[in-house]
Amino acid sequence: MSIEIAGLTKRFDRTDVLRGIDLSVEPGELLALLGPSGSGKTTLLKIIAGLEWPDAGQLRVEGQDWLALAARDRRIGFVFQHYALFPHMTVRDNIGFGLSVLPRGQRPTRAQIAARADELMAFLQIDHLADRFPGQLSGGQRQRVALGRALAIKPRVLLLDEPFGALDAAIRRDLRRWLRGVHEATGSTTIFVTHDQEEAFELADRVVVMGEGRIEQIGHADAIHDAPATPFVARFMGATV
Ligand code: ADP
Repeated sequence: MSIEIAGLTKRFDRTDVLRGIDLSVEPGELLALLGPSGSGKTTLLKIIAGLEWPDAGQLRVEGQDWLALAARDRRIGFVFQHYALFPHMTVRDNIGFGLSVLPRGQRPTRAQIAARADELMAFLQIDHLADRFPGQLSGGQRQRVALGRALAIKPRVLLLDEPFGALDAAIRRDLRRWLRGVHEATGSTTIFVTHDQEEAFELADRVVVMGEGRIEQIGHADAIHDAPATPFVARFMGATV
């Protein structure tokens, strides 16, 4: 799905959190939003997810006015660090959850939901965990389950907010490689937020560098590395390399 964002602004209280975002995302692209904490990355992702509302601007997906659609009609899959799994549900039920709350008419039968969950668990290599509860899983396993839950609805757009933020470095590296495989297999247009340059550059087709509610630069990893477009990008790259 292509995404076209134009002139998007958002203000909380007296702070301008997004100050005019223009961004085009190609169908099937894996895009990283990279920037320091507080630069507006999560807010932009939440607006695309329908969890926040912009003050001004346009958002089109495949030419369709995305803001005019009800959130459940957008078919967004998201993995946000703080949207935890349901602790009282098994892995299989967590993955099937998104399907079980679809509006009547779109909702599959219980048997179909279980079959879809089984298919996803095999794909994500967590089929051996089907009957476990989240409390019995490692952090990396939980993130796979969260991704399975997001993928279950066959999302038109997949949004990931610091998906590996809470995990240690070795697990993050494994999951990155694995996420790229998932992306190649599903072909979903995917946007993920990170403040970690290595993560952005290793995973993404293009990287969007954000600072203080603006897009400072959009490009391939090499271009951003070799030719920072603004003093902000140069500082940010230097600060965390
Ligand atoms: P990032 O993801 O880049 O860290 P965020 O989008 O989370 O940035 O936040 C950008 C700014 O907006 C921060 O200053 C944050 O405090 C503020 N902010 C985010 N959500 C809210 C909210 N619900 N109410 C008030 N301020 C918020």
